[in-house]
Amino acid sequence: MFCDERVRKENAYIKTGGICICRACYGALIKNTPAMPFEGVGDVSYVISPFEYGGALRDTILDFKFQDCHAYAGLYAEMMKDYLLSYGIWEDFDCIVPVPLHSGRMRERGYNQSELIARYVSEYVGLPIRTDLVRRGRATKRQSSLEGADRISNVRGAFECAGDVKGKRIILFDDIFTTGSTLRACAEPLKNAGAESICAVTLAMHAQHKLSWMDVLNSNIR
Ligand SMILES: [Zn+2]
Repeated sequence: MFCDERVRKENAYIKTGGICICRACYGALIKNTPAMPFEGVGDVSYVISPFEYGGALRDTILDFKFQDCHAYAGLYAEMMKDYLLSYGIWEDFDCIVPVPLHSGRMRERGYNQSELIARYVSEYVGLPIRTDLVRRGRATKRQSSLEGADRISNVRGAFECAGDVKGKRIILFDDIFTTGSTLRACAEPLKNAGAESICAVTLAMHAQHKLSWMDVLNSNIR
């Protein structure tokens, strides 16, 4: 997946279908500390994300999103598995809600990349996927083309609650955490509609926005 090398089966770290991740490439990925969530944004109380966004992972995510490489979804989920299972939180939640794409973008791409990964993740954490609870009401520009405050205003109000979430404990799922503005915009209408708690899981997180809970506590003490 990361190096295009043909590797012997016994040297594959993860293999699904005809694609594998070799041990060397997996070893080179920048991994976040297990069981240590990151500070949340807005109504998202904390964020769980196993990898730092960059390098080879960034290249494959771009292929995954824009080059039709949807077979990567199962491999990403496998890569996340041990990290996610280091958290004992899953029984405290009711469902996983993948961040939806706008219908126009969905037609153009043919699939929601976050939902593809979330479907695999839902199986091993034992939580159902709900794609009917939140809707993307208005088209937005690609977040990757914007910076800072523009990212927040681009997605503010873009999502609306589309189902009964009263008392529900929800895990939002997205592929990348950059500034958190998409997750923030997605969580707000759910919280306003009565969701009890919201946390987020992403495949990868930009290094500049990484702030673990532990770091937050330490900086408050000092
Ligand atoms: Zn490799």
